[in-house]
Amino acid sequence: MTPKVNYSIIIPMYNEEAVIQETYRRLKVVMSEASETYELIFINDGSRDRSAEIIKEYAAWDETVKLIDFSRNFGHQIAITAGMDYASGDAVIIIDADLQDPPELILQMIGKWKEGYEVVYAKRVKRSGETFFKKWSASLFYRVLRASTDIHIPVDTGDFRLMDRKVCDEMKKLPENNRFVRGLVSWVGFRQTAIEYERDERLAGETKYPLKRMIKLSLDGITSFSYKPLKLAGYLGVLLSGSGFLYLLYVVYLALFTDATLKGWPSVVGIMLIFNGFVLLMLGILGEYIGRIYDETKGRPLYIVRECHGLQKQEGPMPK
Ligand code: UDP
Ligand code: MG
Repeated sequence: MTPKVNYSIIIPMYNEEAVIQETYRRLKVVMSEASETYELIFINDGSRDRSAEIIKEYAAWDETVKLIDFSRNFGHQIAITAGMDYASGDAVIIIDADLQDPPELILQMIGKWKEGYEVVYAKRVKRSGETFFKKWSASLFYRVLRASTDIHIPVDTGDFRLMDRKVCDEMKKLPENNRFVRGLVSWVGFRQTAIEYERDERLAGETKYPLKRMIKLSLDGITSFSYKPLKLAGYLGVLLSGSGFLYLLYVVYLALFTDATLKGWPSVVGIMLIFNGFVLLMLGILGEYIGRIYDETKGRPLYIVRECHGLQKQEGPMPK
């Protein structure tokens, strides 16, 4: 067993060599102010640059630095999950490696935790240095998510948060593959509170969340917490066949009781395109769910670790 510490800081990194040294420095400054024991768990999510080497150098002379080195890129949400599996702290803090989440806020989080809150999440009141599209799409996503689920998932909140050991242990019991960690934290419950902050610009390097990954994360969020998109097919079906039937009655009336000649093909083609479009859309939505069911049935492990520095997997419930 690795000795227990007060705080475990989880830092996922994917090609972050340009920022990781500064992140390390800032975290050290902040955590030395807390004057309690801590560990910095860096997860190297298959970086192709020197991120892992840099951390290994630090680990050689700083025993608070630990490294989980993945065999390839498994994705941000999985990297966080691995960090939670290995963390031994009484409180676990997740923070991005790019300093968009200011480490200084950790002290405030710790303050709230000591007041008795079990989850302290950081809510962004402002995001600087991000494109209009990113801000707009993120805001849209959080609102769609809120509208489609019954669990309260706070809007405009990323994974930057503190969790009590109890929360972390419960999270470890959730084995799902397509993970949306911030939703799962809401799902497990406990006493939660927010602190507000302004999200800075990335210190260096570029975002590791291109549009494709943002869409994947959004779909993971919505499909893991809601069946509503599936029900949409039923509602639309009732609406469309209902109005189709009424229209049919009208056509029969025209044919039987008036002299109107019934001209058809533009309307037929239009209706066909629209209806086939709906059907394909619904098949696509079904596909999103079925693909995820398939992922779960395969029962593959969430991640594969090449090597660990200064860490052992913690006792207690493990993901599959
Ligand atoms: N990240 C990761 N694996 C990935 C993609 C991202 O570990 O496949 C890490 C990345 O190094 C960073 C955090 O996840 O520490 C958030 O990523 P990023 O800052 O690129 O996302 P953004 O802030 O632009 O949404
Ligand atoms: Mg970032």
